[in-house]
Amino acid sequence: MTPPDTSAPHRTATLPDDADARRAVAPVICYPVETLPRPDLALYRAALATTQVTARVIAPARDAATFRVPAGSFFRISCQDGPQVGDLNLWNAADLTERFYSGKTRALHGTHVSTGDRLWSCFPHLRPMATIVQDTLDWYGIDAYGGSVHDVIGTRCDPYTGALLAGTHYHRCCHSNLTRALAAELGIPARQAEPMVHDVLNVFMCTGFTRDTGQYFMKASPVRPGDALTLFAEVDLLGALSACPGGDCSSEHSSDTALCHPLLIEVLTPGSDSLPGWQPPLRSAYDGSHGL
Ligand SMILES: [Zn+2]
Repeated sequence: MTPPDTSAPHRTATLPDDADARRAVAPVICYPVETLPRPDLALYRAALATTQVTARVIAPARDAATFRVPAGSFFRISCQDGPQVGDLNLWNAADLTERFYSGKTRALHGTHVSTGDRLWSCFPHLRPMATIVQDTLDWYGIDAYGGSVHDVIGTRCDPYTGALLAGTHYHRCCHSNLTRALAAELGIPARQAEPMVHDVLNVFMCTGFTRDTGQYFMKASPVRPGDALTLFAEVDLLGALSACPGGDCSSEHSSDTALCHPLLIEVLTPGSDSLPGWQPPLRSAYDGSHGL
């Protein structure tokens, strides 16, 4: 007989006699990826070797910056002065309604992404927007706490949750930083830009879920100066990166307490004819009729 679950006293349901048997059922993978189109990493890496840096943008500490990357080019996010987490948004530069979809990226690749994984766009597009070509932290794997790096499970720190949980009105959360940066990039008011800000890729952030309560946790990022995440732009991209006020996210965010550092974004342009046969990915093949 399984003892009552004392970690969740608010639960009141009676434990069934076959609880152990039901819990012992083996899981199945929701989305087997054997049929997922694979990126040609050898092609991308050969092209990466021909690149030159053609733009540099700094996301200042506790602030965000935007950048543009033509399809077929690369961008690299680098840790500069000290451990720092970045919150990344991506849009199709030609159609801002096509944006990064962290939830489906998580469903396809898992809770954290690394070399060879792709950042997928929202419905009705559902195509790779970017492919991770190099990750200097891909040695980290999954640690003893179940933590890993570059998560697609967190949303982004935001002032609304701070107001809900602590009654604070902090203005340098990643959500606000991304909103201000996008508004400035597009020349529109912040209130108009805000709905376009979406769930992020948490670059360099080390996170997981506690085994006993299933709660989202963070821990000090293993990123060090010189570490970088390099991505290939599959479509023309507008990006925004916030240097999170949580710094390395070892203690707290949504405040001015943590030590924070800027992050560097570089756009890398490959030599001509260095991507033979590469084509931007097509939008989803679904016919869009929804049965009507
Ligand atoms: Zn943040």
